[in-house]
Amino acid sequence: MAVLHPPRFSGDLGSLKQRNRRALLDLVRHTPGLTRAELAQRSGLTKMTVGNAVQALLGGGWLTEGELHRNGSGRPGRALHPGEQHHLLLGVEVGVDELRLMACTLTGRPLAQRCLGHNGAAPGEAARLLARELIALRAACGTGRRLLGMGVALPGPVMPDEPLLGLAPNLGWRRVRFLDLLDAHLPDDFGLRLMDNESSLAAFGEVWFAHRRVPSLLYLNADIGIGSGLVENSGAARIISGVHGLAGEVGHTLLAPDGALCRCGNRGCAETLVSGWMLRERFGLSADDDLAAAVARLPTRETAPVLARAGRALGVLLHNLHHSLNPAEIVIGGELTTLGETLLSPALKAFAESQRRLLPDAPLVVPEVLSDSRFMAARGAAARVLDVTLAQQSEPV
Ligand SMILES: [Zn+2]
Repeated sequence: MAVLHPPRFSGDLGSLKQRNRRALLDLVRHTPGLTRAELAQRSGLTKMTVGNAVQALLGGGWLTEGELHRNGSGRPGRALHPGEQHHLLLGVEVGVDELRLMACTLTGRPLAQRCLGHNGAAPGEAARLLARELIALRAACGTGRRLLGMGVALPGPVMPDEPLLGLAPNLGWRRVRFLDLLDAHLPDDFGLRLMDNESSLAAFGEVWFAHRRVPSLLYLNADIGIGSGLVENSGAARIISGVHGLAGEVGHTLLAPDGALCRCGNRGCAETLVSGWMLRERFGLSADDDLAAAVARLPTRETAPVLARAGRALGVLLHNLHHSLNPAEIVIGGELTTLGETLLSPALKAFAESQRRLLPDAPLVVPEVLSDSRFMAARGAAARVLDVTLAQQSEPV
């Protein structure tokens, strides 16, 4: 993940106050409805410190007061909730076939969403198109909200410490500084900008906005290409990127030595056995075809064995991910999930049968399959903007 235009550092003055406010805001984000007294109890801060911090958070629109709670014989307290009216987060995904944009609140509630095809645009053209859409999306949310920033999800490895996309084989993009391209078309008041891998951000958004209290979560994006993202969640959610952002590029792990040629240049990558692009090639479909609808029009006797074989390859990938990363939970999204049981059943069956050979007593990991994952990466990019904003010393929360 790389960040441009973080909020300016304002010195140490008040940083303790800011840390306290952030801690209290996190408590309310995870458990909406807490009162000031409950916050003091859970945070270990004094009631006066909590009272002052909550007042500041209410004033900044980060929190809002709700219903009156009566607890035992003490004074009743107002329930506190994350503020939904004053801030705006933008998240976008540059997909292989389309741009997906989302504007949301501090809790991830969508305010506006849109998708548009980009016809395999070159990076500069995609950036110009995206900037235009971002400006329009922001305008659609009105002028009353403070924009915290914008996150971009990209279909390839992103360097962890600089805004550089190494390679997006299914876009044909190589070594792209996408934020720099985007920056040239965005106004100065667009706040923080960041970019990261799409699957990593999808995993991050699922942990952050769904408040999943799991030690780790793996998101498998079974789409035109195949990618995955792992988030560790011990205390704070953290994306595991690897030194060059390559971690999770499971579509290019080798499953069939000397197998078919992959778009990355190697032979026998997982994507040559299961991916949206491989199935389109196999069935003679174009990149524009809706995969599930086009497959449904073909004879089942032709499609079923191919989908079943692809499903078994997906099961192998799940097995390998389970044994290399051992995530607590697995979520599967992407267009391949729309192909239904013919592909998914062999994958999940193979994974269920093989995963506990080494540890028979370990709980069975049953992947959750999303029926609609279109905005997962965009939502995750927005979540990451909030995460980085709150971690900045100077952010006056
Ligand atoms: Zn490959």
